[in-house]
This record gives sequence, structure tokens and C-alpha cells, in this order.
Amino acid sequence: MVRYGGNTSCVQVTLSDGTHVILDAGTGIRNLPTEMGADGRHIHIVLSHLHLDHIQGLMFFEPLFHADRQVTIWGPSAPGRSLQSRIGRYLSAPLTPLDVRELPCQLDFRNCPVTHWDIGSARIRAETVTHRGPTLGFRIEDAGTSLCYLPDHEPALVGDLAGLEPEWISGYSLGHDVDLLLHDCQYTDAEYPAHMGWGHSALSHTLQFAHRCAVRQTLLFHHDPSHIDDDLDELLEVARERWAELGEDPSMLAMASEGLEVALTAAPA
Ligand SMILES: [Zn+2]
Ligand SMILES: [Zn+2]
Repeated sequence: MVRYGGNTSCVQVTLSDGTHVILDAGTGIRNLPTEMGADGRHIHIVLSHLHLDHIQGLMFFEPLFHADRQVTIWGPSAPGRSLQSRIGRYLSAPLTPLDVRELPCQLDFRNCPVTHWDIGSARIRAETVTHRGPTLGFRIEDAGTSLCYLPDHEPALVGDLAGLEPEWISGYSLGHDVDLLLHDCQYTDAEYPAHMGWGHSALSHTLQFAHRCAVRQTLLFHHDPSHIDDDLDELLEVARERWAELGEDPSMLAMASEGLEVALTAAPA
């Protein structure tokens, strides 16, 4: 895991007005700059769901320990318990030395609105998608560009993605026509049958979803912890062949890897 990395989900998005948005708080959050937010800018952490691999990094996110930083954590609502109390099940004894209420930063918790809301210069849309437990996917639009984030997603559970009408495809309206899609690609097609219903995609599901959504660029995301670098190289080779068979451009498909940066610019009108 030296080349692709072994941390869990965390993606930093810098909006056109400089606002910091962090998608999920997996262990990858430790690689973000520690001075984030010291410029007075508000930090927004947007959680797709509360599985441990998406919140585990919270305890190690430096800005939470500075009184001068302002942080809002957004996440899916769930019946009967607030977002703060659900996250507090992890950020409390005996799992952590500190309680969520003891974090020195200016912290607040917000349920993601079911349709859309604005953060900085961006409009964010959230929709419930097929996974285990309450899980959101996101579409972020800013300065004429768009990004879709679906880290944990099993759209194939509903039926064959090649034949389904768009309104039956989980996440379709979030992913349709985006400039960049980050999508779950946890399993090879051979591995998937033993994991059906676990909430993740096989390669062919990811490709078919991206193809149906007509996205411009795709990053295969949320690698299986048992896949080492060589496995991912092999998976990418197969992925690009299949992507070309679907009539798509193989250079627009890649593996997500730690530290990878992608700049999105609006297409000329
Ligand atoms: Zn999950
Ligand atoms: Zn996950």
C-alpha cells in the first residue's frame, strides 16, 4: 500500500472562494495541513455516513484542538438520535481519552438538508444512496464545475445498471453529467458474489454507473483493505479495457491514490 496508500476515506475540496470542505473523516484526515482554518476560514466536514472508516480520523484532526478554529460537521440524520450524540459514541470513553464536548474548537453539528444547501461558493446536494445504514451521496457544484462523491455505494442491488431507467439508479441524479466522479470500487467482479449486500460495488457496477451518468472523469475509490498496490494496478488495467469497450476514453479513468490532486475548471461556454 505504498503507492496507492492505506488510509480510509477523506477528500479535501477547496472551493473557488477558498472555503475548506472535507468529505468524510477517515484516517486520511491526518495528512491534511495542520494549519487548516488558521486563516479564519470556517472548516466544513461533510460525512456521508458514520461507519467507523469514515469518522475514525476525527480524533486526530488537529484543527479540532485549537480554540480559534471554527468547524461544522455535517452528516446524515437518523431517527431518535442527534448527529452529535451518534458521533459522541465514538468520541467518548472508553474509546477515546476525550469527550466530544471537550474539544476546544468552535464546533457545531448539522444534519445535511435532504435536498440542497450552500457552503461558501458551492451548492451541495445530498441524496440517500444504497449502502448499509443511513448513507448520503453528494454532488458539489461550484464556479461552473461539478463533483460527485459516492464512496460507499451498491447501486447494482436494485437491478442491472445497464438496463434500469435512470430514476431507478441509486445516485443517478447526483452523478449525472458531472466533471469528476469519485465512486466506490471495492471489489473485483470475481470477489463481488461473496459480498453481495455488503454495500459496495464491483468494478463492472462502478463502470456501468459512470457510463450511464455520462461523467467526464472517474476516480475508482474506497479500495478493499486486502488489495495491495499490484492488485490495484491489475484492476485498473482491466477497468481501462472495459471502459474503452463501453466507448469511453480510458485516460479519463484512474485509481484514487493518497495525495492525488485534481483541478476542475469550467468548460468554455
Ligand atoms: Zn460504509
Ligand atoms: Zn466505507
